[in-house]
Amino acid sequence: MGELSPFEEQLAGYAEQSVGAPTPAPDEVNQAMIRHWVEAMGDELPIYTDADAAAASVHGQIVAPPVMLQAWVMRGITGGRASADGKPSIQNELYALLDDAGFSSVVATNCEQTYVRYLTLGDRLSMSTVIESVSGEKQTGLGIGHFVTTRADYSDQDGNLVGSMRFRILKFKPGTGRTAKKAPEAEATEATLPRPNRPRLSLNEDNRFWFDAAARNELLIQRCKGCGDLRHPPGPACPSCGSFEWDTVESSGKGTVYSFVITHHPQVPAFGYPLPVVLIELEEGTRLVSNLVGVEPDDVEIGMPVEVTFVEFDDELTLPQFRPVAPATATSGAT
Ligand code: ZN
Repeated sequence: MGELSPFEEQLAGYAEQSVGAPTPAPDEVNQAMIRHWVEAMGDELPIYTDADAAAASVHGQIVAPPVMLQAWVMRGITGGRASADGKPSIQNELYALLDDAGFSSVVATNCEQTYVRYLTLGDRLSMSTVIESVSGEKQTGLGIGHFVTTRADYSDQDGNLVGSMRFRILKFKPGTGRTAKKAPEAEATEATLPRPNRPRLSLNEDNRFWFDAAARNELLIQRCKGCGDLRHPPGPACPSCGSFEWDTVESSGKGTVYSFVITHHPQVPAFGYPLPVVLIELEEGTRLVSNLVGVEPDDVEIGMPVEVTFVEFDDELTLPQFRPVAPATATSGAT
């Protein structure tokens, strides 16, 4: 470990500090907010909105979706800045300190929630926030900065902990990222360096088959053995009928561009830019996110017919990518 600079020591002094008085939730846990939430999220689990189904469940009553935890105490855009006791919070003081030292840009990097119990209608939460840690100075792709990790603890009306949320941001100096400070000569040198490997996949027992197939240059679609519905991305249960039984069909690899974005920033060194990120609709009906190759970014269009091509990025990673095909019905006399 290197020596801390005086500024880093000052920052480290904020670790383990409570941000201020607990913030009370403006409303108790209620059915209306739950209903809006699940509609927005497309979550149709009946224990959130159907009193009879909830009564028959292990919960015995309506419960709130656990991931709503933060929503119960969150304030609107205008009400979120002042701390409960009206004084500038330790958190704002820390951010101002970083701002004044030039670390004026911010990006959220991690969010992690822990649940102790399900919330039920009528629960009234309050939130206490602690600054867990402030990192030393780090060089990141975005710039030189400090990671600030806070933890919000949510308690119920009896003072019992019901869940926590750890949230990490990076406060960084704009213009100090890897791409920003290149001199023209440096740029030429970096452009000739081999590109680092793409990030490794997050594989689990539910999705491994799909990537194993991709390595064999096969594009698979999961098929429910209960109702026959095709689905993607891979998952353990059928969203239509709930069956855990499934097999696969091999896609023809033909489809169309359903939607796309051409990504320019932020740039991850493993990828080339501008990077067309496309949502492909396969002719079998399922959609998948992929990249487009063999086309100028300006020429990408919604509805463009495409076909799969397998790209071996490195020894461990082969992925389906898509390339344009000439329209099959180019027989009209329009041109
Ligand atoms: Zn099914």
